[in-house]
Formats: sequence, C-alpha cells, structure tokens
Amino acid sequence: MGDDGGAETVRCGGAPRRTAPLRTAPVLTTLVLALSLPAVVLLGGCGSAATSVGSGADASGGVAGTSAATEAPLAEPGAGPSPARTPKTPRPTPTGSTVPGATASGGTGKGVTSGATTVVFVDVGQGEATVIRSGSWTGLIDGGPAGSEPAVEAALAKLGVRRLSAVVVSHMHADHTGGLTHIVSEWRPRTAYVAGTPTSALAAALHGAGTAVVQVRRGVGLRFGAARAEVLSPAGLSGDANGDSVVLRLEAVGKSFLFTGDCTGPNEAAVGSICARGPPIDVLKVAHHGSRYSTSNTFLADTRPRVAVISVGPNPYGHPTPVTVGRLLAGGSRVYTTWKNGSLTFKVSQAGALSISFSRSPQPVKKATAARGG
Ligand SMILES: [Zn+2]
Repeated sequence: MGDDGGAETVRCGGAPRRTAPLRTAPVLTTLVLALSLPAVVLLGGCGSAATSVGSGADASGGVAGTSAATEAPLAEPGAGPSPARTPKTPRPTPTGSTVPGATASGGTGKGVTSGATTVVFVDVGQGEATVIRSGSWTGLIDGGPAGSEPAVEAALAKLGVRRLSAVVVSHMHADHTGGLTHIVSEWRPRTAYVAGTPTSALAAALHGAGTAVVQVRRGVGLRFGAARAEVLSPAGLSGDANGDSVVLRLEAVGKSFLFTGDCTGPNEAAVGSICARGPPIDVLKVAHHGSRYSTSNTFLADTRPRVAVISVGPNPYGHPTPVTVGRLLAGGSRVYTTWKNGSLTFKVSQAGALSISFSRSPQPVKKATAARGG
C-alpha cells in the first residue's frame, strides 16, 4: 500500500501532466499528532496579529502533559492509524521527464488549491530537511546533514508516510544532502527535483531507488498533492551552489510558503522581485540558516514574511547571525528557529487556517541575540 499520490509536473498557466497515478491516502490520527506536539499556535488570516494557544510556557518536547484539545481544529480528513512502513517493496518505474527551463506565465494564485497541507521543518541541527504533506502526497525538501536520518524518518513516520512522492534537492551541499542518500534508498521517492548535478552518492541512490531526476528552473510549476508550487529560482546555473538553490513558493488553501535553500545574491533579489508582485509570504524558510549574506532588507520588503523559520543548529559560522534575525524582527516577522523551537509543524486546514506546533519551545525569538538553542 502506498501513500504517495502521483506528482504532476505543470507549466505555470499550462495544463498539468500527470507522471504517476494517484494512490490511496494513508491515515493520520489527530491523536497521534497531538501526543507528539506539545504546543500549538494558531495564526490569524491575513492580518499580522496572531493568536497564541498553549504558548504560555516552553514545552519540554516530551509527550507528558500535552493537551490534545489545542489540536482540535487541525484534524485531517480520513485520519486513522497507519501501520508500520514496509521498507522493501517493488521499486517504481521512473515516470518523470526532464523539464527544461520554462517561461513563467503566472503564479499560483489564491483559491486554486484545496485540502489540508502540513509542512514540517525538521530539527536536523545545522542543515535543512522539510517535509510537505498534502493529502496523500508527501515530499521532502533536502535531507539534512549526515546523522539526521533518524530525525527525518521519525517525522515521516509520525505523519504516517510509507513512501515519498518526491524529493526536492535545493542544492548539493552536505548540510542538505548528507542524510538524503539513506532517505532516498529507504523511502524511494518517485521523482527528484534538482537544479544541477547530484553528487555521485546521491545520484547512485536515486538510480537505485528508481527515482526520476527532473531538472527544474524558474517558471516551472509543480503539483504537490492539493497544493501547488512554483519554482522561482534558479533561472539558470551560475556555478554558485548556494545562489543556484532551488527556490519554491508553495500555495496551499491561500497560504504561501517560500522555501529558499541557501539562496543568496542576484537570485535572491530576483525571487524577491517576483514575490513583490504578489501577496505577502505567510511562512518564509529563511535562506542559508540565517547567514548575513542572505535575507536582505530589500528581499524582506519584497516578500513581507509574516512568519520566518530558520533551520539551524550548533555551527562554527555564527548562524543565525544577529544582523539577519534583527532584519526579520524589524520587518515585523515572527521568528522561530529549529535550534530554539525544535521541529516546527505548520498546518493549513481545509478552511485555510494556519497553525504551528513545536517539538520544543513555542516561544518566538524576541531578540536578535536569542535565536539559538540552549
Ligand atoms: Zn545550508
């Protein structure tokens, strides 16, 4: 039994082309989720004000004392327990195809999606791994550094995932791909979306898993279950791995997420220019772990993120830099980091309500110097 719906590759404004059949969704109980999520914050609609629920104190990250009541609005349809994943099943036949650079022809406007969507920024330390689940479709953006495989797999198992529909590799640096080789081998994504050449180890894993590798460029639209994503960068490859990161804008029931990899420089500016033409971004995954060389004031003015998430852990680089956190705070964003808050789970309900839950502290970063853990 698979839980992975077929991924669709579409040109923005064009007709979708299904590359794999939809499958029956596995189920996920609210109770299971509630037991593992100690605190939930509900965000308001388009206003900047947010209502906090259960955020009166830092939670320990354990299951004891967790109130399931706060999860009541978060139930997903068809919820129910999922049996353990069966690791060895027949490999899929590659079904994707190369998508050359495409000309953007419009974004994914509000109202084009429906269905609950969950986004989990997994606490993988210094690196990044983000799970997206929309209906029966499950994708993973990056796989964290080597050693983070258990955390990523636990996040997938918690959602009842049995197989990945797709992976997106933002770029080929070890803090994003170190854990991905194992994940690909075990969770056998049907499709991998990349910009550039996978590392030899990752390429071998993708080949072994029967995963179709699809090059994406700016303007390509992707269907992630009921949600839709648009590739905003890169338009081409410059040779700068960070700058060439795959940047995705995801729209789910009118809520927007911007996944930036480690994007920086001209490509970040270009992403900002695109976003400036649309509504504010609801959730920004801050580029490059809060490096001072990304997330410029201009970019923030263009994207206007309501919530900012920095995926970061102990590191020798000074990430997240106080100057970047300061920019985010000054711009009015609510700032969280995986280092301080643990794994963050965002849920967009079918009604379009956005809520956040945390595996550690629910307290947002209030000072630029307090974005780290401990
Ligand atoms: Zn990185």
